[in-house]
Amino acid sequence: MADIIQLLPDHVANQIAAGEVVQRPASVVKELLENAIDAKATNITLVVKDAGKTLVQVTDDGVGMSVTDARLSFERHATSKIKTAEDLFDLHTKGFRGEALASIAAIAHVELKTKTENSEIGTHLTIEGSKVTSQEPAVVPKGTTISVKNLFYNIPARRNFLKSNTVEMRHIIDEFHRVAMAHPSVSFQMLHNGSDVFNLPATNSRQRIVNIFGSKTNEKLVPVGEETEILKINGFVIKPEYSKKSRGEQFFFVNDRFIKSPYLHHAVSSAFEGLMKNDVHPGYFLFLEVDPHSIDINIHPTKTEIKFDDEHAIYAMLRATVKHSLGQFNIAPVLDFERDKGFDTPYEYSKKTPTAPSIDVDKDFNPFKEKAKQGNIKFPFKREQPNSWESLYVGLNDDTRQANFDAAQQVDNHTAKGDGVEMQFESEEVTGSLFSTEETDTGQVTFQLQNKYIVSPIKNGMMVIHQNLAHQRVLYEELLKNITIKEAISQQLLFPLQLHFTKPDVEIIKKVREQLEHTGFIFSELKDETIEISGIPVLILESHVVNLLNQLVHDIKEEMPDTGFSQNDMLAKSMAASMAIKTGVSLSSEEREHLINQLFACKEPTVSPTNKPVFTTLDVGDLDKKFV
Ligand code: ADP
Ligand code: MG
Repeated sequence: MADIIQLLPDHVANQIAAGEVVQRPASVVKELLENAIDAKATNITLVVKDAGKTLVQVTDDGVGMSVTDARLSFERHATSKIKTAEDLFDLHTKGFRGEALASIAAIAHVELKTKTENSEIGTHLTIEGSKVTSQEPAVVPKGTTISVKNLFYNIPARRNFLKSNTVEMRHIIDEFHRVAMAHPSVSFQMLHNGSDVFNLPATNSRQRIVNIFGSKTNEKLVPVGEETEILKINGFVIKPEYSKKSRGEQFFFVNDRFIKSPYLHHAVSSAFEGLMKNDVHPGYFLFLEVDPHSIDINIHPTKTEIKFDDEHAIYAMLRATVKHSLGQFNIAPVLDFERDKGFDTPYEYSKKTPTAPSIDVDKDFNPFKEKAKQGNIKFPFKREQPNSWESLYVGLNDDTRQANFDAAQQVDNHTAKGDGVEMQFESEEVTGSLFSTEETDTGQVTFQLQNKYIVSPIKNGMMVIHQNLAHQRVLYEELLKNITIKEAISQQLLFPLQLHFTKPDVEIIKKVREQLEHTGFIFSELKDETIEISGIPVLILESHVVNLLNQLVHDIKEEMPDTGFSQNDMLAKSMAASMAIKTGVSLSSEEREHLINQLFACKEPTVSPTNKPVFTTLDVGDLDKKFV
């Protein structure tokens, strides 16, 4: 057989290699910003057009390049940053592989203008698909400007694979934040499609974080600091009461390089243990300094993961340091534990008169809260009843037991009130028989299982409905209708809600303002970092608005589609997920029945907005099989 192996032409090899370095416009942003930092720039400007798809340009006032270096910089493995393999273990620069510019030049139209301090005149070079198309002398200031145009112009498949501008822009802003946070003494500017996005003057670390994440951030920060022989830690954690449900502000920097580390994240999370609820994440901006010899940053092509020689020691120190700061700044005693969500019955249920209590054990019971609010008061009967639904079920056919239950509850309840303390529990309002409202219109009985499922008899057996998914379906259809036909009703707020977001987040909310208004929001102000809301949809509680908007902004950043219809769909999904009755919330029989009725009035009651089944049925035949 004839020889068939050939060496790939350079431009093909470069294109393939480029795939490792450049996944999206944000990768270009990261590489160019890091090169500017390595060139000791003090002012860096990033200009982006169409979320980087048309243009990414970085201008710096760093050391610049000579005419020869300008040309060499685009060769693969051309770097000024290391000379020998040993240098890999003593890195003080961001770059060292010498492949970023070569990769970028293989898949875009690139223009470079640069001049060193001592040369009279600079150079202007253009490259397309790895080929230099011109190089001329040029009158330019000291420093470097690199413009990367039409990314992936020669790889249509990659270009088509790019996400919407909103998503790509989000990635760019993330990279920009990471570099800007690691280098507060450098001033940064960012423009998108001609308008200012960030203008960050040279400052200290705390002020840089505040400039990026908004002025309200300042009061949320707790400083962290520790120095030992192997590790220096500086930075801030966010006070536990400001922790967010969505993973947001979590930043580790090691020797001024942003890294991701689930292991170190765990160390910080465990330092927060007991200070935060389970479903939220700690926020932190932590700058670690270690001897460059003790880390290996070579294990990931885009270099966001590193390996420490002494991982365990670093874990322990980080955890202890964060714990110490949280204690020292007296975070624990001022913690305001959130109220039991079960009492904030969402939706129009909140307007109904209270009905008979359910006898579920309160799983969200929080001893700290009770102590703080009520001193030594005996807990109400609710928790002293036999556990969960079984008793309820048994009681269905047992009038005597039911009556006893009732009596016991009323006595207990009375005692609790008799202590002169107003109880916060829904079980306080005992009205009539425990089971009198269990009967639905059709004479059916429903009950709740584990505060999660609603069980209802049907003709041939029973139906088990997932309360959260069912409510999501109901809200989703209603919201989608409101957004598209614009007919929602607002509830006016007595005192407008003032909320603080970052500038880019406010921009995101502006983009969907119209749709949100269709659902019933009334925005009286939307500017810079502030949002003022004077009306909200009737479907939600004021206390849920912040969470809802936070989640919405988060979802939009992650997956906002380009077209109008899918945008509305995504908004409705996100809002429905935030607003729906959660698992763990106890529902009265009226609420259960109402939810079932609403569900079956939906167009597609069988699946949730995210395509999960909403209910399942079990017929007598299935049951019979279990008794043979
Ligand atoms: P690396 O950063 O890994 O060395 P790059 O491909 O990113 O590889 O850059 C190649 C070389 O080009 C760098 O080592 C540096 O000497 C030079 N260079 C790149 N960007 C700049 C810049 N903004 N200012 C000065 N020199 C630069
Ligand atoms: Mg580089």
